[in-house]
Amino acid sequence: MPDDARIATRTVHAGLDPDPTYGSIVPAIHQTSTYVQPAPGQFVGDFDYSRSANPTRTALENAIGQLEGGLASAFSSGLAGEHALITAVARAGAHVVLPNDLYGGTYRLVDSVLTRWGLSYAIVDQRDLDAVAAAIRPETALVWVETPTNPTLNVVDIAGLVEVVRGAAATLAREDGGGAASRFAPGPLVVVDNTFATPIHQRPLELGADAVVHSTTKYLGGHSDVVGGAVVVRDEELHRAVRHVQNAVGAVPGPFDCFLLHRGLRTLHLRVAQHDRNGAAVSEYLRGAAGVSEVHWPGFGGMVSFRHPDAVRIASSTAIFSLAESLGGVESLIEVPQAMTHQSVEGSDAAVPADLVRLSCGVEDPADLVADLERAIAG
Ligand SMILES: *Cc1c(COP(=O)(O)O)cnc(C)c1O
Repeated sequence: MPDDARIATRTVHAGLDPDPTYGSIVPAIHQTSTYVQPAPGQFVGDFDYSRSANPTRTALENAIGQLEGGLASAFSSGLAGEHALITAVARAGAHVVLPNDLYGGTYRLVDSVLTRWGLSYAIVDQRDLDAVAAAIRPETALVWVETPTNPTLNVVDIAGLVEVVRGAAATLAREDGGGAASRFAPGPLVVVDNTFATPIHQRPLELGADAVVHSTTKYLGGHSDVVGGAVVVRDEELHRAVRHVQNAVGAVPGPFDCFLLHRGLRTLHLRVAQHDRNGAAVSEYLRGAAGVSEVHWPGFGGMVSFRHPDAVRIASSTAIFSLAESLGGVESLIEVPQAMTHQSVEGSDAAVPADLVRLSCGVEDPADLVADLERAIAG
């Protein structure tokens, strides 16, 4: 693939080289745990044991890295990737800044697991860049960004946030004489959860962020048939640290999951184009629908949320939208975050209203999706 290939071309070809043995255009699934060594301690490539490396996983990692413009590592879930990145960067006593509207599992990982290992956190509305700057302390190792946010789909200015974080860190370094909490940068690293936007719409590393995380379970895989995650970074030392945790903790995806993800990934640009059309059509209908308020759609993608007093009844009565957690697949899903995906933030600063409905618009015909919602809302 030429270095200057555009995103659609990269999506189709990234990470795929014909199999050197038979020339198969899709490389084999290397369903193996170990590799025969020509002599003790000599490996073919990187490959000695499949927790450490596997060719099917390497192909997927190269593909995701080529789409985001960085160095990628694949994990058995999005949360496993988040855990690896946070533990690679932060140490006991470090502080992280979280958004006030975020994936519930990210909050749970920090609040109920990592705080027991000495991590502390602050929750901030990241649309307010002054509030982000005010939350940075000398021991802040990471600023965690989700944009669009989940479930209210607010958009955060990544480039502006990076600038504000760098500025706040420089001021603190002057006042306190340094003492960086992160091993990798003079100030906190900026991490963007790019699960909702995908590299088709947003490439945070190009906007100055240090790392990107994905739940590849969602749009990158796109077919609701595999759970996976990825971490992509720019810095080689940080990449080595993430890979060290990947191997030391071992939350790696199996070869078949990597194959499925890579197969799904190759149509990402086509799926995202239809998700965009369907998100536009559904949000336009909802803005005029009786009883509906606060329609959120960031202007791209398939994620839409709205409030309605009959949220639970509506979510239980659609025929095409299936009542299910998750998102980003070819089929449309509907859910009530307060009762489903966001239980882990109940009672926290990131809690969501009970009458909020979240839609993941799939790639079906937009007219059928609108008609389905019309029928469900009418009751
Ligand atoms: C699903 C999701 C995650 C967690 O990923 P898993 O693959 O479920 O572990 C993280 N962030 C966002 C935005 C998600 O939607």
